[in-house]
Amino acid sequence: MTLNIEEIRALFPVLHQEVHGKPLIYFDNAATTQKPNAVLEALMGYYENDNANIHRGAHTLADRATRYFEKTRKSIQDFINAKEEAEIIFTKGTTESINLVASTFGRKFITKGDEILISTMEHHSNIVPWQMLCEEKEAMLKVIPINDDGEIIFEEFEKLISEKTKLISIVHVSNALGTINPVKNIIEKAKSVGAKVLVDGAQSSSHLEIDVQELDCDFFAFSAHKLYGPTGLGVLYGKRQILESMPPYQGGGEMIKEVTFQKTTYSDIPFKFEAGTPNIADVIAFQKSLEFIQNLGKSNIKNHEDELLSYATAKMKEIKGFIPVGTAEQKVSVLSFNINGMHPFDVGVMLDAQGIAVRTGHHCTQPLMQRFGLEGTVRASFSVYNTKAEIDQMVASVAKIAKIKN
Ligand code: PLP
Repeated sequence: MTLNIEEIRALFPVLHQEVHGKPLIYFDNAATTQKPNAVLEALMGYYENDNANIHRGAHTLADRATRYFEKTRKSIQDFINAKEEAEIIFTKGTTESINLVASTFGRKFITKGDEILISTMEHHSNIVPWQMLCEEKEAMLKVIPINDDGEIIFEEFEKLISEKTKLISIVHVSNALGTINPVKNIIEKAKSVGAKVLVDGAQSSSHLEIDVQELDCDFFAFSAHKLYGPTGLGVLYGKRQILESMPPYQGGGEMIKEVTFQKTTYSDIPFKFEAGTPNIADVIAFQKSLEFIQNLGKSNIKNHEDELLSYATAKMKEIKGFIPVGTAEQKVSVLSFNINGMHPFDVGVMLDAQGIAVRTGHHCTQPLMQRFGLEGTVRASFSVYNTKAEIDQMVASVAKIAKIKN
């Protein structure tokens, strides 16, 4: 099915504005996506009609809010094809989901001499929690190298993995390069040594069909705000058996069965990991993001984004001084580049003056930038509401900017 992009754009109020006197062109979708009207209305609607704390009220509003809240959990289960709703834990975002695993699974199961594997292209949120854990536990963090195209070198991964490997935490799609990693093969290999696998799905969840049962990953983490949903909301999927074996993350209300001063017993999953009043409004509004994606169809979204990426890549290659960063064969929606002789930040500021929003810098992947010997890149990342006409505008602007030094 071909999507009607103009109809889709009409659903996003933020897109219809001028920046520095030019129509906004929003190409910073890997950082966060814009939100359709339905999400904004659901946010307001909750506060206007249903505002109540959930799970413990005997009154109508509490019951309604609880039902809406739990409906989103069910939709997320369907969205990633988890076996059970109980395997879906609400967090603040991918970062908190990873930290949750590091501080609960890690606290219990990682011991001195164990090894944790990550890759060179991880976001800082999939590096630092493991460094902190390894320091505390005297475990070892090992890093899978990548080639010059920005792809994992699988043979090197096979050399690094061993009986000592207890966990592999790997990004599904790189936010800085757009590379799609072969997570299925990595998971298969991990199983052969009994290692658990966490997939950082912050980027992949908006572009690829996700089936956690088919992947057979142990954990899958993602953020609502990269899926046309609200900020400050994320998901951790975990297999029931593993979640049940892990200690709670934070202590407080909601996560207990019974509290006495002598002993506390904990709730069943997922509530064991959801201490305190959760982000009720955003969870309820996120339902509308999932419906938006479902209505369009993930594969249709991906086809459109793939088309934009190939179009943009081909056009940008014609610009003298254009240096692509990340040229993997399997990529989604991210065009990272530099302009010969120019600082990425300067390119970003000049594009902003034309109303074009891109991200510049290290993209929270400093070790990856070091691998390429770069301070940073300019990153244009595309979403379902972007158009070829917008890409033409960017190409024309970049061509002008590049001429300054090339
Ligand atoms: N991992 C990847 C690959 C990301 O792109 C991001 C965000 O940019 C994160 C993790 C962290 O997500 P959040 O800031 O929503 O917690």
